[in-house]
Amino acid sequence: MTDSYTRFANGGFKPLVKKLGLPQPAILRRHQAGSPLTVGPVLVVSDDASASDADAVTKVLTGWDIDVRRSPELAEREKFGAVVLVLSAVEHPEDVSGAALALGGTLRGLAGNGRVVTLSRAPETGDAPTLAAARAGVEGFVRSLGKELRGGSTANGVQLTGGAAVDSISVIATLRFFLSAKSAYVDGQILPVGPCDGPGEIDWDRPLAGRVAVVTGAARGIGAAIARTMARDGAKVVVVDVPPAGEALSAVANSVHGVALQLDVTAADAADKILAAAKPLGGLDILVHNAGITRDKLLANMKADRWDSVIAVNLASQLRINARLLEAGVEGLRIVSLASTSGIAGNKGQTNYAYSKAGVIGHTAATAPLVAATGGTANAVAPGFIETEMTARIPFATRSVARMLPSLAQGGEPVDIAEAICFLASDAAAGINGRTLRVCGQHMVGK
Ligand code: NAD
Repeated sequence: MTDSYTRFANGGFKPLVKKLGLPQPAILRRHQAGSPLTVGPVLVVSDDASASDADAVTKVLTGWDIDVRRSPELAEREKFGAVVLVLSAVEHPEDVSGAALALGGTLRGLAGNGRVVTLSRAPETGDAPTLAAARAGVEGFVRSLGKELRGGSTANGVQLTGGAAVDSISVIATLRFFLSAKSAYVDGQILPVGPCDGPGEIDWDRPLAGRVAVVTGAARGIGAAIARTMARDGAKVVVVDVPPAGEALSAVANSVHGVALQLDVTAADAADKILAAAKPLGGLDILVHNAGITRDKLLANMKADRWDSVIAVNLASQLRINARLLEAGVEGLRIVSLASTSGIAGNKGQTNYAYSKAGVIGHTAATAPLVAATGGTANAVAPGFIETEMTARIPFATRSVARMLPSLAQGGEPVDIAEAICFLASDAAAGINGRTLRVCGQHMVGK
């Protein structure tokens, strides 16, 4: 639900908010079945060396029935829904200026809730310094542009790794995610994407059709939104939560025609219970480690139970479950774990929580090659400030400040996290492995 300040700033007080120079959060466009991918035509621009890749991208977008333009002229009252900047073949920093400035010239013609997406290559070990600079510079460019865009528009980058082609499955799936309303609260992010064998045909409306997904901590908040979004995308869902949350859990299970499993994820046999619950539905394909708790205290006042319970639920349970699933030989498993921007930037009063969430980012990178051996992936999503019962407990003033800090000047909604997780769990995202994607409205704190 949109917070009260965002409603205020978009209602009759909009001119006053502007005059006083107060933050102006836009009402973000979120995915609705049947709505167009972008809010207007898509302009594709590139540097000279990347022109043939820009042609390939144009072909893909045209195949999605998008009105693709290669020149910046607009008819009267027309606005671009998105600009795709293809920089995949840049070799020198000088190569970038023409295309970057051409993009700049189009930004006044970008619609509200518009998108800028770059396609570039990651610097690789062994790159010459000039090439590394040309490639690495794109990251700073995207993060700065994200901070300049207004009206709910975002800037994100697909960063090709390992020789991935611009029109390979995972690259175009990531481009599509960033262009779409599903990435409403993803801003200023660079996502590395590698080559993958991937599915030939993709059902963009039901990308998880036939998959069996288990979502932990799903009785409420982000977990419930993940379960609903996975069901929307075609998955059969098992929802997990602790027995005291049993009633709410059953309600979520009923709403997604799924199965409720009352289980504390810290239990020694949690993985076996998860496997047993998924088996009658066809066997485990997707596991979302979402269950999490906070027990905030300054470290000087931290008691052992507060530290230990947070590590047990947020981190140790994930490690134990993953290890058992690997041992049991589950193949092609898609794991997505909930990290947090607190685990990246640190947060006062959250040494325990930030340890656990930084640990999640670490084990995700280490688990990736282990699951890749059988076609699986392990990724994480790091939410920023999301409006849930967990964050409703934060004091009002702190909560209000947290909403103002991101470029999008508002908190996210549970569905924003759910959309990113469904994307990462889909077959088309097979080329993304070991990564952590922030969904934080560009609350760029930390490294
Ligand atoms: P929430 O408190 O609203 O929901 C968490 C759910 O996990 C609850 O239903 C709870 O009963 C369940 N749970 C807790 N311990 C469990 C256990 N041992 N076994 C099984 N289930 C258990 O939290 P939320 O805001 O929806 O957060 C979901 C996840 O996202 C958490 O991992 C959290 O750390 C992470 N996160 C949230 C935010 C945010 O702003 N809300 C930000 C960053 C990260």
